[in-house]
Amino acid sequence: MRKHYRSRREFMGVAGAGLAGMAVMQVAPAVEASEPDLIVINAKVYTVDSRMPRAEAFAVKGGRFSAVGSTAEIRAVAGKRTEIFDARQMTVVPGFTDCHNHASGEVLLYEVLVGNPFEVEFVTISSIVEKLRAKARQTPPGTWVEGFFFDDTKVKDKRELDVHDLDEVSAEHPVAVRHRGGHTSYYNSKALEMAGVTKNTPNRPEGTFDRFKNGELNGRVTDRAREVFNGVGRRATFTPQQTAQRSRDGIAHISKQFVRYGLTSVHHEGGELSALQDVRARGDLLHRVSYEASGRVLKSMISSGIQTGFGDEWIRFGATSEHTIDGSFSERTMVLSQPYPGSRKHD
Ligand SMILES: [Zn+2]
Repeated sequence: MRKHYRSRREFMGVAGAGLAGMAVMQVAPAVEASEPDLIVINAKVYTVDSRMPRAEAFAVKGGRFSAVGSTAEIRAVAGKRTEIFDARQMTVVPGFTDCHNHASGEVLLYEVLVGNPFEVEFVTISSIVEKLRAKARQTPPGTWVEGFFFDDTKVKDKRELDVHDLDEVSAEHPVAVRHRGGHTSYYNSKALEMAGVTKNTPNRPEGTFDRFKNGELNGRVTDRAREVFNGVGRRATFTPQQTAQRSRDGIAHISKQFVRYGLTSVHHEGGELSALQDVRARGDLLHRVSYEASGRVLKSMISSGIQTGFGDEWIRFGATSEHTIDGSFSERTMVLSQPYPGSRKHD
């Protein structure tokens, strides 16, 4: 028997794929005919199976659970080539499923992150301005400078980010900071000017140009009012080869992040389908994908007669694309029947 100790993080990476199926596993008695690839012993296992809700150990063969039970029972099924992982009383749960994720991974890999996408972290507005200034120094005037993963509830300054902060980044570049919720962004004066938005621009039914109490624009633009910035300013361009490379690297990167946090199945809104398949082929797809086709992929899926459910265990067509009719909860732009906590506003 090989005895092998791994850190919890390494263990998540190895076991992540296998754990996804735990909820439907067979609770087998200790005797198992074929030798398992891996046994995990001395753990606090939450099986999410009412027939045996808790266990100390389990065995995995060919990516499937082959036995679950006590440490002694599972030790007894190990063979010569079985890898043994002593969890030393760590908790083991089935892999998590993320039911909706915009998971191309390219933003994480290539863009300026002004908030922490992974952990709860409070940041200062000056840190956001500094990061964007650094980006502006490498960016030709007139080209967008953008920050991602802003969260207005994770700011140390206890005030809103506004147009004046972003004017400190640059007067030559259009600047945008995108909220992690995906439905609001903050712009500098240059961006607003290039889009022709003034304090007299009326709000739209599907989005707003927010203002300070004195009626001046504060830089926050919500939901589909942000469409006025489409086609404004220059953006980086890539060759088809570069685009494909970025898609693949983005998927491979985010897949590592998913399993690091125990996400073993993810419903993908977006991300290139071909890149997902390429990354899988090269062995770097670590999570299972339910793919939400949209745009040209959805059209060709329909015209080819491919239905939801087509695919296999690793990449499968799931629900069709997200249809946006409202705002988001995290940015308080979604209409609610009850006011938002701490507010009298419904939207
Ligand atoms: Zn979405």
